[in-house]
Amino acid sequence: MDRNEILNLTALELAQRIREQKVTSEEAVRAVFENIDEHEYKIHAYLDFWKEESLEKAREIDEMIANRAFQEGSSDLPLLGVPVAIKDNLLLSGKKMTCGSKMLQDFVAPYSATCVEKLEKAGAIIIGKTNMDEFGMGASTEHSFFGATLNPKDPTRVPGGSSGGSAAAVAYGGAFAALGTDTGGSIRQPATFCGLVGLRPTYGSVSRHGLTAFASSMDVAGPITRGTRDAAALFNIVIGPDEKDQTSVSAPKVDLEKMESYDLSGKRIAIPKQLISDGTEENREAMSRAVEFCRENKALVEEIDMPILDYAVAIYYILSSAEASADLSRYDGIRYGYRASGAEDITELYRKTRTEGFGKEVKRRILLGNYVLSSEHFNDCYRQAERARNMLKKAFDEVFTKYDLILCPTAPGEAPLLGEIDKDPLSTYIADLCTVPASLAGLPAVSLPLSSSEKALPVGIQFIGPRFGEQEILGASRFLEKGGQK
Ligand code: GLN
Repeated sequence: MDRNEILNLTALELAQRIREQKVTSEEAVRAVFENIDEHEYKIHAYLDFWKEESLEKAREIDEMIANRAFQEGSSDLPLLGVPVAIKDNLLLSGKKMTCGSKMLQDFVAPYSATCVEKLEKAGAIIIGKTNMDEFGMGASTEHSFFGATLNPKDPTRVPGGSSGGSAAAVAYGGAFAALGTDTGGSIRQPATFCGLVGLRPTYGSVSRHGLTAFASSMDVAGPITRGTRDAAALFNIVIGPDEKDQTSVSAPKVDLEKMESYDLSGKRIAIPKQLISDGTEENREAMSRAVEFCRENKALVEEIDMPILDYAVAIYYILSSAEASADLSRYDGIRYGYRASGAEDITELYRKTRTEGFGKEVKRRILLGNYVLSSEHFNDCYRQAERARNMLKKAFDEVFTKYDLILCPTAPGEAPLLGEIDKDPLSTYIADLCTVPASLAGLPAVSLPLSSSEKALPVGIQFIGPRFGEQEILGASRFLEKGGQK
């Protein structure tokens, strides 16, 4: 197979070809690194990658396959020999983990995150760490201490964020799949802007052990891939309870065969009107095409009213910033990470370290978090937001007693131009409207591309399901991707 043929495969297709010895893992790794050589200097998707080590691993795998050390079709190794990237807030033992921050510029991971370990056990070759908004705070990957990532579909634009590096790497063929993390949309939104599939799994289904906290009650790792089948496969690999994360739970795997035979016929789909109020022409058009498609395939599609969603962005920014300010208090210049020099006493050391180590957006969140947690504002801000979050969860529970799925856009518009976001941070927060509701309620959600023409920038739509509803949302996503049941 030549390089282009290899690069056109999905992760699962590649694993199969490698197992059948139609292509070697070494060839796949080489193909990906040729692409990295070609695009990386323009796009800057990666913060670190390791070519020789990856090739070495690939050769070992190829040798084992040649020696028939793996059983034919072994289901334990669904990603055998496949080059995969991970976001740089996930620990990989012995490698740097910076979270896109000066604070952790020289931090080397002492162990691997559970989800990363699971990927490796499934045979994947982790080839590098991808760029991100500092500590996951942002929606453009411009808030990285190491510089912005550009959108491979249009380099004058952002790839989205905060997992923008993961999305950009997969989009330009610098990896066959990637892990991102999603607190308030950071898997789904960059997947949309780069024309990919992004899955936010049910909160708790993927262990957070080794995922650096932004807002612990919402953080979850998940896949960014070229298609729904890959997303389902990666989901199946990374899920599962973990004694190192007390919030992790056992979640049902997605049955890929069942997913293929999914049919929208008879499904009840709700569209919350609060999530479609504004948006660009392209987005509205994508939504109407999705609705039309669902109706043509005999699904019942209804617009519903969820008034609490008007408050979702406010609730999200109060709670996530409160949690962030607590989660980030550990960066004090003493235990690990950056330490400022020239401080006269301990208080000054804290202040200087945090002033120099954190970027603008992170400081904004810490300030907001401390404000809402302060004794004067705790009751009217933090407590109120918590109550409102519970109301929002209940509103979703109620919707899922009547409907199988929620359909909405992933983002109100296409990828913004570079530099646009910094001019008005508040409107960027507001643009998270479509992604934060599922995050607050701990629900699974998948974003899939639905562009109309080759020239237009990618746009995407999103299916949200009830807790552990991955089979349902991925079934619907696959059904749309295939253009219906043929
Ligand atoms: N854009 C959102 C924020 O800035 C989401 C970030 C995320 O999911 N990590 O908080």
